[in-house]
Amino acid sequence: MYADIIVDITHEKLDKIFQYRIPKEMEGRLQTGMEVLIPFGRANRETKGYVIGFSEKCNYDPEKIKEITQIIQNHIAIEAKLVALAAWMKEHYGGTMIQALKTVLPIKQQEKQKEQRSIRLLLDRREAKERLSYFLSKNQTARARVVAALLDRPILPYEYVTRQLKVTAAVLRAMEEQRILQIEAEVVYRNPVTAKRTKQQSFCYTEAQQAAIHTFCEEYRRGKRGTYLVYGVTGSGKTEVYMEMIEHVIAEGKQAIVLIPEIALTYQTVMRFYQRFGDRVSIINSRLSKGERYDQMIRAKRGEINVMIGPRSALFTPFERLGLIIIDEEHEGTYKSEQTPRYHARETAIARAAMEGASVVLGSATPSMEAFYKAMTGEFRLLRLPERTKQRAMAHVTVADMRKELEKGNRSIFSDALRSLMEDRLKKKEQIMLFLNRRGYAGFISCRSCGHVVKCPHCDVSLSSHRNGKLVCHYCGYEQPMVTSCPECGSSHVGGFRAGTQQIEELLLREFPQAKVLRMDMDTTKQKDGHEKILAAFSSGEADILVGTQMIVKGHDFGNVTLVGVLAADLSLYADDYRAGERTFQLLTQAAGRAGRGEKAGEVVIQTYSPEHYSIVAAAKQDYEQFFQEEMTYRALMGYPPASQLMAVLVSCKEEELLETACHYLKAYAETCCKKCERAGTSVQLIGPASPYVGKVRDTYRRVIYLKSEQEAVLVFLKDQLEQYIEINSGFQNLWIQFDLNPMSVF
Ligand code: ADP
Ligand code: ZN
Ligand code: ZN
Repeated sequence: MYADIIVDITHEKLDKIFQYRIPKEMEGRLQTGMEVLIPFGRANRETKGYVIGFSEKCNYDPEKIKEITQIIQNHIAIEAKLVALAAWMKEHYGGTMIQALKTVLPIKQQEKQKEQRSIRLLLDRREAKERLSYFLSKNQTARARVVAALLDRPILPYEYVTRQLKVTAAVLRAMEEQRILQIEAEVVYRNPVTAKRTKQQSFCYTEAQQAAIHTFCEEYRRGKRGTYLVYGVTGSGKTEVYMEMIEHVIAEGKQAIVLIPEIALTYQTVMRFYQRFGDRVSIINSRLSKGERYDQMIRAKRGEINVMIGPRSALFTPFERLGLIIIDEEHEGTYKSEQTPRYHARETAIARAAMEGASVVLGSATPSMEAFYKAMTGEFRLLRLPERTKQRAMAHVTVADMRKELEKGNRSIFSDALRSLMEDRLKKKEQIMLFLNRRGYAGFISCRSCGHVVKCPHCDVSLSSHRNGKLVCHYCGYEQPMVTSCPECGSSHVGGFRAGTQQIEELLLREFPQAKVLRMDMDTTKQKDGHEKILAAFSSGEADILVGTQMIVKGHDFGNVTLVGVLAADLSLYADDYRAGERTFQLLTQAAGRAGRGEKAGEVVIQTYSPEHYSIVAAAKQDYEQFFQEEMTYRALMGYPPASQLMAVLVSCKEEELLETACHYLKAYAETCCKKCERAGTSVQLIGPASPYVGKVRDTYRRVIYLKSEQEAVLVFLKDQLEQYIEINSGFQNLWIQFDLNPMSVF
């Protein structure tokens, strides 16, 4: 047996794996993730390395291979734990160990980081003035210059003081010792927590909050670890519950990671954590440079902080004493990585927690099918928060059937119901949000008279119109000619749904000339902080109506919004994707959750061509559990996750012909593997190869093969088999093959 070893992961040497012989006495003791001493390089310098795997075969001359010197005992460093997690990710999601390691380990940037030091005055104005006159009287002019400048501005850039004021580092250090000033080596952004911990909230927890907190803390105290799902409507006080749980975990000397989708990582959210936990909190977001992000990881590793807040990648915060991982809005698609290894933060968090003895708390108002399914089977502990705090009622929802509007002769984008409510709100000076559902828009074809949508006869997902004039299924490759009339009712009102936020804005200006309108979409949020600025403007009452895509349904609370209109609920419903119903339900529920957050009650109008679809019926009733039951039936019937497991094999190549041949062989090999599984008693279904929605990206052609099985382990086994087959066959050299376990959407 040989050990695969990565040398010196703290530096830039990630790109090579070395093999070492395992000495007899270490056999059976050596584990993945362990730190070892090895002879390295020509001089056989004693070097530290991490074991990342084992192989029976030696890739070098067995005569020349060196032996591991020693296991470094009693010290499982955080890196070792993360290396073990990387090994789990590689095993689970495919790809190389290097790719996995680059995902989990904080990697130092090569360029020297700019240290932004600053100088802060520690004295109050009176004391500072006294010091100033003292220094002047003693003719200590350098010191006097510093104090004078600090009296003008209490925080000064270090470089300004040394260069412009010509004060030496020695003088500044001396003044720091005298407690006149403090030299701060961190960027102000990085540690904005000069805010003191304010006294905590003045309200009492609701009964449901108390029960959730009690269950978690009691089990935690008894040493029980596991995964919890906090299922609570928006505004039910989930964040308060998380903070209480974190407090408890910290009190036991542990650390916590809080994952929040980037878009919800607003200043307000972060401040709530700061106010509670003070400067023991840090944050990671995309606005930080790579260097700054690395610094946060180092602060975490040194134990300077014990709560880290951030999006998906914050999951790999190198806390030595990890006790809790919280994933807020766990249903969000952004928790799944789009890069190999295509890991899901939820599954990976559970794996990390299991390795390090931590618990996981997931939270959502609309839990993912995966999470709620596991809560139902008892794998996760369900904690319910069924009511909004402060006795606020949920909004009242009406469904407007757009087929009926067409029958009545109303060809406008607004139903009569929505229009009259809008007039009412404009009169009362209350605010309106119009949400154009564009998520998952993938060119489906529907009938405006009867609502019929053209679907694949084999897969029950909608067909997409391609430029070649055909309708295509992206799961199985089925094709048919474009339709010119509705196959159900014969109406000629068939086609794709096309309406942008800009058109809606123009229409509003025509129909409601008295109204002030703000628009939020990709165009208007391009500039830095554009998103926050528009929301802030709307929040301060600068407009009556906010029109936007799904961006507007998250984050901010607008107390004066009493009407939410959903303009095209169907767009996400008929994305060519098995998660379309789930996504629609989530979006509608979130949109509805925007209405009536303040004192006044809210109303919601959902406009749709398919009012009988269960996603819409359940969203209108705000009944998650009804939705879950119906959706589970569909997933089980069609063999989609979580009822069954799905593995996508995405193959791309510059040459179309080579791609076809490679897919043919890959499929044939996969078929033989599937037969093996079948003989062993587990059935696997193979679908494709099909062209993904975007069949060609930057001159690279793409195909997908799907594998379906009830058991995840079988799919992981098949992935391993295919990866080996690809590796030993030189024919695949010019192809790029990626695996995706339970993809968030179809390719
Ligand atoms: P969620 O995360 O479920 O949307 P939050 O924790 O953000 O809910 O709570 C929503 C609002 O209600 C916040 O302003 C919070 O401070 C407040 N809140 C939370 N719990 C209570 C409570 N028990 N009583 C009164 N207000 C509460
Ligand atoms: Zn029709
Ligand atoms: Zn199909």
